[in-house]
This record gives sequence, structure tokens and C-alpha cells, in this order.
Amino acid sequence: MNKFEQLGLNESLLKAIIDLGFENPSEVQEKAIPLLLEKDTDMVALAQTGTGKTAAFGFPLIQKIDADNRNTQALVLSPTRELCLQITNELKNYSKYEKGINVVAVYGGASITEQAREIKRGAQIIVATPGRMQDMINRGLVNIKNIDYCVLDEADEMLNMGFYEDIVSILSDTPDEKSTWLFSATMPQEVARIAKQFMSEPLEITVGAKNSGSATVSHEFYLVNARDRYEALKRIADANPDIFSVVFCRTKRDTQAVAEKLIEDGYSAAALHGDLSQAQRDGVMKSFRGRQIQMLVATDVAARGIDVDNITHVVNYQLPDEIETYNHRSGRTGRAGRLGTSIVIVTKSEIRKISAIERIIKQKFEEKSIPSGIEICE
Ligand code: ADP
Ligand code: MG
Repeated sequence: MNKFEQLGLNESLLKAIIDLGFENPSEVQEKAIPLLLEKDTDMVALAQTGTGKTAAFGFPLIQKIDADNRNTQALVLSPTRELCLQITNELKNYSKYEKGINVVAVYGGASITEQAREIKRGAQIIVATPGRMQDMINRGLVNIKNIDYCVLDEADEMLNMGFYEDIVSILSDTPDEKSTWLFSATMPQEVARIAKQFMSEPLEITVGAKNSGSATVSHEFYLVNARDRYEALKRIADANPDIFSVVFCRTKRDTQAVAEKLIEDGYSAAALHGDLSQAQRDGVMKSFRGRQIQMLVATDVAARGIDVDNITHVVNYQLPDEIETYNHRSGRTGRAGRLGTSIVIVTKSEIRKISAIERIIKQKFEEKSIPSGIEICE
């Protein structure tokens, strides 16, 4: 008997788990799944990025859904369209041996009428971004008045992105008797406020140290002159020919410019930011997942929560405005116990941010010098 069997999951889920290749539950899964299966309860689960939170709520959710009932029974709110699609895809994988469970993704930038039509055909689970969900509710295209489960996934991210009002409004549209499951990497005040306001005596689960980074990620910085940022990025790429990386820039404009320069210089790269159409973004993500692109140059918003296996390096081409965002960036690598490197390209004027980040991640950075070639560091 493997450990998943001991958690109380049914045959069809256990079969799906074998296909997923998961051998043992992660810590958050081990803690959350039996509790969520056992009774209908509210839950707050805190676990770092990359610890398998999707399955921690997804497995019990699939088991609890009544496949014979076509009504919408669960709503999963998630911060971005990419994450929405990712979770939808995961839930479909989990339920592949359970006939009749329909999962529909609801997110901006795609046809609302098509999404409404899909829901009408019978969607027991809706996975939505708060903005589009609110829009659908306003237009009377969706009914969540009788749902049994509401999952707030990556709650800290959603609130960071300014979805507080939408979340409050959406939750007010759901019945009081439902169970609410809140999953988050961190517990800032706004998350605590939502929990207090909308949950009753939630069970609490915490995995690992709050707010600290992943132990499988090592952190490095390169000190350069501002005009040498791009050169440094190229050297890092040259020194790591097998690099499979997300390169974070601060603005859409820089994101586009850096990606274009990389391509011009013969690197395998693409840009991901909010000025691209949904179809373009989907195309870029597909190529990246398929390893046709080695360096995905992205804004924080576009890359939020994205789960792509085996990312070797996260490169902070520019540091984020909010230091806390660093955690989310570096969490793109070192997932599922694998090793990864998070690199910061930093100028003298920003160097003190490194020690501020060290305090947050409770890990030390290693200072590296730019690999060979002309001196670009003074
Ligand atoms: P989180 O939401 O906590 O950031 P995810 O749910 O996105 O994490 O999972 C991170 C990665 O770990 C995914 O690639 C997922 O497939 C993988 N994963 C999740 N649970 C397990 C498990 N029990 N065994 C192996 N890999 C797992
Ligand atoms: Mg997640």
C-alpha cells in the first residue's frame, strides 16, 4: 500500500495518480487530503510555492464532486489565466477515470459567450480568475448560489494583484453553508482578513517555515553596471548552454525589448506579457513547456504561479519593486524537490536589496562574477 492509499482516496484517483507519476504525497497533501475528505470543513493551508498545493485541494475536490449532478458544485479562484488553465488541466487529469466530471476554465481575454456555453453544458467545477468571474456573475451567465466548495488558490497572489473587492463580491454570491479552502504560500494581512470574514473555524495547516524560500533553490547575484545588464544575461546564458529559464523584467516594454534582443543575438527566447493577445500567450507557454524556447522573458503578472517542470534558472534581469515578489519568482525553479538557481543581476545602487531579500528568504546569496570575456564588471 503506498501512502496515497492511506489518505482515503478512491480507486479512480489512485489510478490517475499512478499516471501522474506521483509516488508519495507531499507534506501539504499528506496533511490536507485526509482532513478535507473526512468532513466538510473550512481550511487554511500555508505551504511554499512548488509543494503540490494543486493536488492537495484537487484530489479531495474531485472525490467529493457528485458526477451525476450537472450543477456547478465548486468554484476555484486563481490569480491568472495561465494558472486557471493549468489548474483546469490538472483537475481534468485527476478526474480522467471518473466519468462525467466537467471542469471549465473562466478567464479574461477569451470569449465570454463560449465560456458561458461550456458552463451551460454542465460544469461541476469552475476554475476562474476573479475579474472574469465577477463579470460573468454581473451578466447572469453563471450560478454559484448552490456551490458546496470554494477554493481560493494562491490567495496571497490574488490579493497582491488587487482582487480583494472582486473576491469579496464573488464570495457574497455563494451560500453560507459551503466549505471554503484557502491555499496560499504566505499569510499577509489581507489574506487573514478574507479568512476571518468568510470562514468559520477553519482547520489550519502550515508546511515548512512561513515566508521562507525553497531549500532546493540556491541564490546568486552578479554585480554589474546598469548598461551591462544585457551583456551579463548573455554571458549567463552562454555559460549554461542547457539553460531552461524564466527571465524576469520589471515592465512590459523591457520584457519585449530583452526578448527581441536575445532573439536577434541568436538565443532561443520569447516574451510573455500582458500586451500580447491570449492566443499569443498560449502559444508562447506551449512552446516553453515543449522546450522549444529556452528563455522565457516575462513580467511578474504574466508569469505568476506558472508551473513548468525542470526550470533550471530564474533570472532577475531587474529586481522586482516589491521584495516579497522575489520569493514568487525564485519559486519557479527548484520545484518538486529538484535543484534550481535563482540569479539576480544587480547594480551598485540596488545592492542593499540583496540583504533585504536574504532576510526574507532566510538564505544567503553567493556573489558570482560574470563568466569570461571582456570585463563588464568594474
Ligand atoms: P504549488 O501550487 O504548491 O506551487 P503545484 O501544485 O503547482 O505546487 O505542484 C508543483 C509541482 O510538483 C507540479 O509539477 C506537480 O506536478 C508536482 N507534484 C505535486 N505533487 C507531487 C507529488 N506528490 N509527487 C511528485 N510530484 C508532485
Ligand atoms: Mg499553486
